[in-house]
Amino acid sequence: MKRIFLLLLGLLLLSGCQPQKHDSQTFAMDTIMQFTAYGPKGQQALAHASARVQELDQLFSVTRSTSEIYAVNHAQGEPVALSEDTARLLAQSLELCSQTGGALDITAYPAVRAWGFTTGDYQVPSADELSALAAQIDYTQVELTENQVRLPDGMELDFGAVAKGYTGEVLAQELRELGVESAILTLGGNVQTIGSRPGGDPWRIGVQDPEGDGYLMVLSLVDQAAVTSGGYQRFFDADGERYWHIMDPASAAPARSGLTSVTIVGDSGTQCDGLSTALFVLGWEDAAGFWREHQGFDAVLVDEDGRIAITAGLEDRYVLGPGYEDRTVEVIRP
Ligand code: ADP
Ligand code: MG
Repeated sequence: MKRIFLLLLGLLLLSGCQPQKHDSQTFAMDTIMQFTAYGPKGQQALAHASARVQELDQLFSVTRSTSEIYAVNHAQGEPVALSEDTARLLAQSLELCSQTGGALDITAYPAVRAWGFTTGDYQVPSADELSALAAQIDYTQVELTENQVRLPDGMELDFGAVAKGYTGEVLAQELRELGVESAILTLGGNVQTIGSRPGGDPWRIGVQDPEGDGYLMVLSLVDQAAVTSGGYQRFFDADGERYWHIMDPASAAPARSGLTSVTIVGDSGTQCDGLSTALFVLGWEDAAGFWREHQGFDAVLVDEDGRIAITAGLEDRYVLGPGYEDRTVEVIRP
């Protein structure tokens, strides 16, 4: 009896120390996605995750002519019925556009295209062109009624700033329902965690130095998302200037707020993704003001002088990265 008990205990400890690790990789939403899940349900859950990602990409792609967003963008003012995912993401996005005073604007696509970010055929549009584009960007003209949307002819939706966050959030929820208790999903610059690491330690997520290769700091996360938007992620140089893929909807030009990267940590991947883009546009002071007013998430701000700030909720959840130990971190308090 005693021997069997000890044997069982041994097996339990062994499996407790080394839960099965499952990995998968998939290309979607213009980026490489890497999923790792631990435990007996991991493999099946990751197969579901890959299929689900492809399904969402097929709905949200702005360039693929068979996607739902493409159909919306080419409906010439006619209403279009939406799938549940698209309707839900659209409703949440419009809410974030409104909360951020239009710093996030999911109708900025014509500007993104005019600068060449959709094709890689980069160019600097003329001042006249930019003011015409800026006048067209206006998320308040998107009419969403339950599962139907109508856009003014010529307006185009783009979920580029929110799709990966939403996808991570949905995957986390569905993987939990499939019995996964420990997983980490990397979707380009978006990270979504499920539970903690096997053994119970928090996941550790590096915040990249926008000016170099290292990690400025490492954040501890449990069951949350961390999303970074940075000018260094996609850009081109022309005439000694750098132009990146995050637009200020007010000018239809790359947002020059003085920030070089914004990382948002929170429970909702969609919110983290939308706010990482919006707070990058808003700049240091307004981003801090937005956090004080709304809270419910945390942020890391980095500006072009190398200043670093975190919001108070991260104070006990970060360590400076190797090589960055002597950097000062300001704390934004309520
Ligand atoms: P990434 O996609 O590189 O992770 P973001 O989440 O910041 O970065 O999203 C940037 C993308 O969102 C751009 O490629 C573009 O398609 C779109 N976009 C750019 N500026 C805005 C904006 N102000 N509001 C909404 N979408 C934007
Ligand atoms: Mg974003």
